[in-house]
Amino acid sequence: MKLATKFIHAGTEPDPSTGAIMTPIFQTSTYVQEAPGKNKGYEYARSQNPTRKALEDAYAIIENAKFGLAFGSGVAATDSVIKLLNPGDEVIAANDMYGGSYRLFTKVWERYGITFIYVDTTNAANVQAAVTANTKMIWLETPTNPLMNITDIAAIAVISKAAHALLCVDNTFASPYLQNPLDQGADIVMHSATKYLGGHSDVIQGALMMNDPELREKLYFIQKSCGAVPGPMDCFLVLRGIKTLHVRMKQHCENGEKIAHWLRNHAKIGKVYWPGFEDNAGYAVAKKQMRGFGGMISFVLKDESIEAANQVLTGTHLFSLAESLGGVESLINHPASMTHASIPREERIKNGLADGLIRLSVGIEDADDLIEDLKQAIG
Ligand SMILES: *Cc1c(COP(=O)(O)O)cnc(C)c1O
Repeated sequence: MKLATKFIHAGTEPDPSTGAIMTPIFQTSTYVQEAPGKNKGYEYARSQNPTRKALEDAYAIIENAKFGLAFGSGVAATDSVIKLLNPGDEVIAANDMYGGSYRLFTKVWERYGITFIYVDTTNAANVQAAVTANTKMIWLETPTNPLMNITDIAAIAVISKAAHALLCVDNTFASPYLQNPLDQGADIVMHSATKYLGGHSDVIQGALMMNDPELREKLYFIQKSCGAVPGPMDCFLVLRGIKTLHVRMKQHCENGEKIAHWLRNHAKIGKVYWPGFEDNAGYAVAKKQMRGFGGMISFVLKDESIEAANQVLTGTHLFSLAESLGGVESLINHPASMTHASIPREERIKNGLADGLIRLSVGIEDADDLIEDLKQAIG
């Protein structure tokens, strides 16, 4: 089935009791049983909810997975994956990734005896060199937030398989429209559904997708035992968002391409980070594993002062200054003080995240209007 058809029909069946074409919001905490232990597959809403079930089926379908699980947020999904591990286990993680994942790993999970080793995963040899007998998981993000670095998922999957470690990929930036990590050999895909899957900046949610039934059972056990489940209204919103993922992503990609090239040709702009430039280090891999390059762009001004960056950050009218990404409206963000403030400055600079770096989440407005907006802000 082609992507457009898949995204519109994924997981949704007409409601059997009424024929409602849209999955109802089952706003209930429990289900009446006919006799003790005799139920319709639904006992208590932390464990099962029909709206969530429809969404979890959709999650599986859109990532070419056998199973999907929904969580109360992206970090709750990540947290649940780390709960598969035991004290003494080691995780090799990308050195350039979402600040909240880094915070969860270093500030929460390190205290429980799990070790995280951060490497530049764009070079598979670095990952190979970090493997030890205790390596139980490799955590990737590609493209990365905010530097748009590209890691070859299939190459890392070869390493993870040989090490008997789980390969998890945060696929938030690409979305399933552009990239399907399970097809490249990953074991678990994670999404912040808050971003492109929801798509309208009105919900916080996370997702995990996997093929191995045993892994699904372990993660379902964690989902119900630890309880980071989303409410049915939020599940409904993400289900609705997924139906337009393909049309939104197409426009995000088209606008992203126009703006990336416009920025690059601007006299006041220094480096532009966007995986679709042919001279970008990750271009060949991006071209191989992605169907497009997306609408996430970072850049620095030639004038690297914070003051110059601030002028742009506060000077746009259509691009709103806010954290988050992936909604229909365009956002502008300052990673060093906003999304990535939880990473120590020294670490940030070491990994190439400059103080003056500006990140754009290009929305699906008219690209010409967006360019006009940036033009007047950059001056
Ligand atoms: C936002 C984000 C997360 C965290 O998701 P929440 O829904 O905010 O909890 C994880 N990874 C990436 C790449 C993100 O952009």
